[in-house]
Amino acid sequence: MPRRRRKRRREIKRVPRSEAFLPEFDRGAVPEGLVTRRQLRDMGLSPGGNDPVAILRCKWCSYRPQWSCNHPTRGFLLRVDLAVPKRVPTLAQEWALDRAMAARQTCGDCGRRFFCCLSKKLGCCIECFDGTPVDPSSYLAPAAPAAHRLAA
Ligand SMILES: [Zn+2]
Ligand SMILES: [Zn+2]
Repeated sequence: MPRRRRKRRREIKRVPRSEAFLPEFDRGAVPEGLVTRRQLRDMGLSPGGNDPVAILRCKWCSYRPQWSCNHPTRGFLLRVDLAVPKRVPTLAQEWALDRAMAARQTCGDCGRRFFCCLSKKLGCCIECFDGTPVDPSSYLAPAAPAAHRLAA
């Protein structure tokens, strides 16, 4: 017996278009000085903590000008003149990042650093946990202990 398909109207939340939230612009009719986040990134800029000032209406909505676009496909427009150059991480920041990654990728028991993050629950690699051999290409050789290097 075929399952009866429940008919349910999809709830579409329609909001009349207004300027109460943010002004909306159709694709191709965006005023000068407003760009999307992606365009900003391609220009090597970042929003700089500025909120979007307008909405780029989605394709579906360009045929329905009387309704506000509240679809996930809409875009947000930012002002170019408020954008700031993209932040480039400093060397110290990259070191800190690498230290954090090393802590997550290094087995506490055998000292091998893996190319993937280890399970936090185990706290060690699977070889130390239950003896499952790990692929030799998935880790770096353990770093020599500092004391040993000093003695040499
Ligand atoms: Zn829309
Ligand atoms: Zn291990």
